[in-house]
Amino acid sequence: MSSLLADLNPQQLAAITLPHQSALVLAGAGSGKTRVLTTRIAYLIQSGQVSPYDILAVTFTNKAAKEMLTRISAMLPINIRGLWMGTFHGLCNRMLRAHHQAAGLLPAFQILDSSDQLAMIKRVLKSLTVDEKEFPPRQVQWFINNAKEAGLRAKNIEVNDNMTRQMAAFYLAYEQRCNKEGVVDFPELLLRSYELLNRNETLRIHYHDRFKHILVDEFQDTNRLQYKWLKLLAGMDSETCAAVFVVGDDDQSIYAFRGANTGNMVEFEHDFKISKIIKLEQNYRSQATILDAANALIQNNSGRLGKNLWTAEGKGAPLRVHNAPNDFDEAAFIIDEIKALQAEGVALSQIALLYRSNAQSRVLEHSLFSAALPYRVYGGMRFFERQEIKHALAYLRLIANPDDDNALLRIINFPARGIGARGLEQLQTIAREQGGSLWAAALHKYGGEAMLSGESEKPKKGVAEFVRLITSMRQDCAALPLPQIIKQMLTQSGLMGHYHIEREGADRLENLNELINAALSFIHEAEDDSLSAFLAHASLEAGEHQTGSIQDGLQLMTVHAAKGLEFHSVFLSGLEEGLFPHENSRNEVNGLEEERRLMYVAITRARHRLYLSFAQTRMLHGQTRYNVPSRFLNEIPESLMRWSQSVQKTKDGYSEFNIKKRLFDLTIPNSELGKTGVMSQQTQGVQWRIGQAVSHNKFGTGKIVNYERQDGNARVQVNFDRSGMKWLLLEYAKLTPV
Ligand code: ATP
Ligand code: MG
Repeated sequence: MSSLLADLNPQQLAAITLPHQSALVLAGAGSGKTRVLTTRIAYLIQSGQVSPYDILAVTFTNKAAKEMLTRISAMLPINIRGLWMGTFHGLCNRMLRAHHQAAGLLPAFQILDSSDQLAMIKRVLKSLTVDEKEFPPRQVQWFINNAKEAGLRAKNIEVNDNMTRQMAAFYLAYEQRCNKEGVVDFPELLLRSYELLNRNETLRIHYHDRFKHILVDEFQDTNRLQYKWLKLLAGMDSETCAAVFVVGDDDQSIYAFRGANTGNMVEFEHDFKISKIIKLEQNYRSQATILDAANALIQNNSGRLGKNLWTAEGKGAPLRVHNAPNDFDEAAFIIDEIKALQAEGVALSQIALLYRSNAQSRVLEHSLFSAALPYRVYGGMRFFERQEIKHALAYLRLIANPDDDNALLRIINFPARGIGARGLEQLQTIAREQGGSLWAAALHKYGGEAMLSGESEKPKKGVAEFVRLITSMRQDCAALPLPQIIKQMLTQSGLMGHYHIEREGADRLENLNELINAALSFIHEAEDDSLSAFLAHASLEAGEHQTGSIQDGLQLMTVHAAKGLEFHSVFLSGLEEGLFPHENSRNEVNGLEEERRLMYVAITRARHRLYLSFAQTRMLHGQTRYNVPSRFLNEIPESLMRWSQSVQKTKDGYSEFNIKKRLFDLTIPNSELGKTGVMSQQTQGVQWRIGQAVSHNKFGTGKIVNYERQDGNARVQVNFDRSGMKWLLLEYAKLTPV
């Protein structure tokens, strides 16, 4: 016990050893919230107050859950398998599988990831003969997910206008389709689990009795439905109400755009009758300069709950800020600095390259590759989302549940079996007539007796072959262990053969083999090693599975994905207006404040060194952007930063010089402007600059803040004094310099 509680400060100790009661820990980055939560679980078990079976803990990612389990296992010499620890989605999945019947689901229900969901929506819209241009599938997806996250079924949607009526109708059709095929999407996991507990008193009482402690990390990022689920599970009004221990930081709330709600903190305080919020004020992660920068930045936000954060660490090195002419130069700067860190003895795995948007990783990856620096990208092209893996999973899903139309459509003609659009249409007609799945239609037409009659026509032969294949796979799989099922499927389906002859198939073959490895490690770790459990794992862990065996590689990820993590050194690139803060944030209420919290998260990941950089021009999504440095750089005190500019070549190699921070010093090259060909009289010959004051007939005066070319047209973004930000086509806007 003593070792468990060693090295903690008095506030941390008090939080960890709190008696059976609900508590809210509100504290800044790096103050030990996650450590307190993990240690409390170990303490509760070790002191004999509860068994692992009595605890449910929610973390933000599966990776975090795994790390916590490892840490707790290291602290305790007992089996902690009974402990429910995972993400909201993971825990809801576990509950729904345990009670699938009560939840109205098939035992082998499958989970749709976001792209599967979109495909499903497209099919539903098509069956309703809806024009995708009028109702873009993504918009429908957004509507459905929002409704579910607000706890609403299609029939409960309040219809006040035509648009909502249409959307509600699509939602209903989609709901029916999912139920028929036995599939659930991500928000459905939560909603259904909530409804199950709400409806089924026996189950609710069972869980009230069972979970004596519920602990939640990153509470600031829970959404409304998650909070309602927690309340229901805790049994607020029952005698056996669980002690709910939540930790969070309002300054790190970065999922408001997905419905997360810091208001939950205030409500929690009220609902669970918290008399005193626990605050942790010592930061154990970052050197003082880094912490000072974070504190100064976040002070620009309003409506904060207010916290102090100090550190006993020394000042450390100043933040390095680099002004690069373009994104390649920015990458070159990063690589030089990484090499210097390496020479100091910093392990590559302790260095993170963070960015606001996934698209930024391409140039970085290219440069790292050329510099032969090993790296690992988190959340980029996700393992389980790769084409070959999705094909393989579709076969497995059909084996588990042949009524899964999504899966069937993906692979009925992959590898090619001569089944074309016409063959498929026939099946779809039969399915519609019979009111069943495509598989049922195929079986009806080509299975059993029909199969033996020996069709000779090509598409028919193809379908018959497919029916035979899936039927025999389903029969075989009953007796085989999971890795064996996958191995057989990969050969029998023809996937291996297909990629074997494909020109760039080597990578794909490697990934398919990696799937067998994933299954091997899954059956070692999981309690339930069935095929459906593995498929659920594949959907839930998308993005967190790591392939290959890079022991010591740089860590590349978005700022969102870096939440909760820490590194010796952090590089944050692309600090440009429009990129970070992201341009989309302008259309959101409080969008800028959310971007600033994201910046706060980014800064506070660093323990010893922090590097900030921006590029004056950058290729993104096929366009050259001309950038202004991010306003966030202005919000960090000059005294904490050391600026450098692009590396200058000198006789003895490379040297650098300090420059004074200069904003708005970009000139749009005339060569770029010339490309539009036709310039209005007025603009011809004018040298436009970022930062230039201009005047417009309608909008009045303002300043150019951004420039880009789109579809061959030059556009500038102007911040008008009266009318705010506007994008204008240079050719037509008739701007005049002032
Ligand atoms: P974030 O808000 O970023 O999630 P956090 O509040 O969860 O941060 P932790 O990750 O738990 O903070 O802790 C930050 C670092 O400080 C970790 O390396 C942790 O081990 C260390 N730490 C926490 N408390 C102490 C302590 N009392 N003594 C020494 N190190 C500590
Ligand atoms: Mg944490």
